[in-house]
Amino acid sequence: MDVCEFLKSSYTAYHAAEHAAAMCDKAGFVRLREQDIWRLEGGKGYYVVRGGSIVAFRYAKGGKFRIVASHTDSPCLKLKENAACFDGTHCRLNAEGYGGGLWYTFFDRPLALAGRVIREKGDALTAELFTSDFRIVLPSLAIHQNREANEKFAVNLQTELALAALNETSVSDMVGPYSAYDLFLVPAEEPFSSGANGEFLTSPRLDDLLGVYTSVASLLAAEPSSDTLVAACFEAEEIGSGTQSGAGSDLLRNILSRISNAQKRSLEEELAAYSSSLVFSLDNAHAVHPNHPEKSDPTNRVVLGGGVVLKAHAGGAYTTDGWTSAIARKIFSGAGVKVQTFYNRSDAKSGSTLGAISMRAVSIPSVDLGIAQLAMHSAVETAAWSDIKELERALAAFYQAEIEVAGNEIIVK
Ligand SMILES: [Zn+2]
Repeated sequence: MDVCEFLKSSYTAYHAAEHAAAMCDKAGFVRLREQDIWRLEGGKGYYVVRGGSIVAFRYAKGGKFRIVASHTDSPCLKLKENAACFDGTHCRLNAEGYGGGLWYTFFDRPLALAGRVIREKGDALTAELFTSDFRIVLPSLAIHQNREANEKFAVNLQTELALAALNETSVSDMVGPYSAYDLFLVPAEEPFSSGANGEFLTSPRLDDLLGVYTSVASLLAAEPSSDTLVAACFEAEEIGSGTQSGAGSDLLRNILSRISNAQKRSLEEELAAYSSSLVFSLDNAHAVHPNHPEKSDPTNRVVLGGGVVLKAHAGGAYTTDGWTSAIARKIFSGAGVKVQTFYNRSDAKSGSTLGAISMRAVSIPSVDLGIAQLAMHSAVETAAWSDIKELERALAAFYQAEIEVAGNEIIVK
């Protein structure tokens, strides 16, 4: 599966996790279930899926971990129960915002209904992926009926409902076979190259499916290492990471502990190993917008095509510090990877990402890394193809690197 196929078909976190799992299956990785007793073999690859999260790893005998973390979810609209809103003529879908979408961009474009449905068969409940084979549109109000639309357009998600059908039964038929669901209205456009030379990739969900795809693909391509290499892709980043499968949960910590247990390491050895492990927390960064350059920091100008981005923040919204920045830069310079730095303007509120939250669950030295993009949280976002290649090289270098903590020094090879 290439990156465009992954972006196109990974409508929701559940889809992204299962598509990443399929990539792992193809590479011979073995699926583990959390409720089973694990018997891990050195050199083999494994993965665990919890909800819309997936953690894949190449198991090694050494105690340290090199982890790339990313998120599988993107802003969209989540269907409520009793979603059919029928006025006698039109049936619309009652939904609420999932994450901080740039909602005006969701109007008048193809949306799919996708997610996870729960089916009841006798005593058994089973979950399966759902993707509608039809498209749904959220129609805007004509300019003639909203003369101020070009000056001010506020979106009220309780008023602005997607148009699903000319009858009520189509909607009840659609969700009727299921005992419950987690269904979302998501942008359904296909990824495409834009720019005169095709230099940009424009697609729904670049944030953060580029991170998910490149981290899993890099893990699968990585050479065996003495450290256990991990790609951890979490759902729920857009809603604060506080769910049972989010970056704030015990998912990653449990898996790392179970790996240490399989290595027959004591708790003492496990905790020592965390301090000499490293996390790359992967999420996209705002490029300088050519129409609004004043919105970016004056001296840290992140541009499309400028290479990978290290993100830092005095308030800790990003995990990068002096030490981890220096380690990452040393890894990248050895591989010839171009690096730029992102800071918010000091008078702007910072977005945050999963790295800082996963730190609370398992505290490993970490760097916030990504590539530059425009239109974050729009229905379609834009990045540069050359940066995606640069990120692939950066992750390959990270998984190949050797990092040793020796007294007061950190050795990076
Ligand atoms: Zn993100």
